[in-house]
Amino acid sequence: MNIERYFLRNESEATVDIGLPDNQEVFIGRGPLTKIKDSRLSRNHLRLMGVVGGVLVHQLGHNRSAVNGTLLAKGSELLLKPGQVLHLLEGKFPFRLFQTEREGVKRDSEGKVKTSEKKSSEKMEDINGRKVESVGKASGHWSQGLLASMNDPKMKVLETENLVIIKDKYPKAEHHFLVLPREKLTSLKVLNDEHVDLLEEMDREGRNICENYPNHQFKLGYHAIPSMSQVHLHVISQDFNSACLKTKKHWNSFNTDYFIPSKSVLNEVRTEGRFVEQGSAKDLLSAPLQCHKCGERQKNMPDLKQHVITHL
Ligand code: AMP
Ligand code: ZN
Repeated sequence: MNIERYFLRNESEATVDIGLPDNQEVFIGRGPLTKIKDSRLSRNHLRLMGVVGGVLVHQLGHNRSAVNGTLLAKGSELLLKPGQVLHLLEGKFPFRLFQTEREGVKRDSEGKVKTSEKKSSEKMEDINGRKVESVGKASGHWSQGLLASMNDPKMKVLETENLVIIKDKYPKAEHHFLVLPREKLTSLKVLNDEHVDLLEEMDREGRNICENYPNHQFKLGYHAIPSMSQVHLHVISQDFNSACLKTKKHWNSFNTDYFIPSKSVLNEVRTEGRFVEQGSAKDLLSAPLQCHKCGERQKNMPDLKQHVITHL
C-alpha cells in the first residue's frame, strides 16, 4: 500500500486529480490521465516522484516544461513544492501541486485506491516493538503495508534477529515471499559494506524457504525500481501461476533484467561497497512478452498465462 502525500490538479480544465504515491515514479504527459492530446507532449513527458518537501520533476520529453516558472530541459530535474505550478509545456497545461491531508489517499501496490482504509494518526509499532510514525505522516522511509504484514502472524513465515520473511500479499506465482531486513533500509542505494552479512543472511534464509517446496524452482532477486520503500528480496517460484499476475509490467518485472538476482546485489556490495542502480530499468517493463522457459513470444498476458502453464 502506498501513501499519496501529494496530488496534481489541472488549473485550466476540470480533470481528475493525479495522485502521487510517495517514493513511486509516476509518468505524465499526453494521454488519458491528463486528457491532453497535444503531440508536442510525449506520453511519458515527465517522471514525477513524491519525496519529503515536494515532488521531483524529471523531464524525459523533448519540449520544455516549467516548474514554478523555471524551464526544464530534457534530462534535468527540479523540485516542485506544494502550492507551485507545473506547466507541462512552457506556458501551457498548468497543474498545481497540493499536499493531501496527513494520511493521504492510500492505494495498494496494485494502484487501487483503498477507500475503506482506516485513517490512522496513531503511531504504529515496528517489529521490534518500537513506536514508528505512520508513513502518511512521516518520512516515507518505511512502507506501511509491508510493515503491517511483518507484524501480521498470518503473513509472517519466519523471523530472525535481523530479518522477517512474509508472504507477498499479491503473489505473482504459487509461492512468493518477501525477505525484509529489520533495519530501516529505504533502497538498495543505501547499502554499504556493513550490509554484506545482512544480504548474505537474506539470501540464505530465502533459499532455505524454497527447500520447503522441492517440486518448484525459485528465483531470488530485487526489483530495480521497487514500489515499496523498505528493501525487500523477492523469493518467487517460477510457475508464475497466479491470479495476481495480470499485467505486462508484472511479468517483465520478474522476467527481465529488471529483476536483479540476489547474488548480483550481494556480490556488488561485497566487492564495491555499494550497489549502483541501472538508469534504464524502467524501459524493461515494456519489453515484448516472452516465455521464461522456452523463449516463445506471446502477444498478450492471457496468451502468455495460458502458455506458461503448459510448462508445469
Ligand atoms: P516491489 O516494490 O515492486 O519490489 O514489490 C512490492 C511487493 O510487495 C509486490 O510483490 C506486492 O505484491 C507486495 N505487497 C504490496 N503490499 C503488500 C503488503 N501489505 N503485504 C505484503 N506484500 C505486499
Ligand atoms: Zn514457453
